[in-house]
Amino acid sequence: MTTNYNDVRNNLLAMLEELDERLTTITQHVRHADNDIEKDSEEQVTQNEGNEVEDYLGNSARREIKAIKEALARIDRGDYHICQTCGEEINPERLKVIPYSNVCIKCAQQVEK
Ligand SMILES: [Zn+2]
Repeated sequence: MTTNYNDVRNNLLAMLEELDERLTTITQHVRHADNDIEKDSEEQVTQNEGNEVEDYLGNSARREIKAIKEALARIDRGDYHICQTCGEEINPERLKVIPYSNVCIKCAQQVEK
């Protein structure tokens, strides 16, 4: 039964493409910011703070890309909907919201604590 996974896979691949683009934009923006610092910015954002934001955005995009690739691998293995921590089934509603999630709600809440 591979019925629904084609949709999920296409969805994940689309997200992956979008993230790749976002990451490229972030990287280009960093390079641009190095040459063109707005010193008189009202918000007085320092160069360092700006780079931290770029780092954060870049890292979170990279983390998502990794998670999506892992989700695609799990689809191939056939354990896409299985929590990688406790082995329980992940709530399908959760997978709809976070298609690259690899843990159930219970385990995710424990990690966040
Ligand atoms: Zn779990």
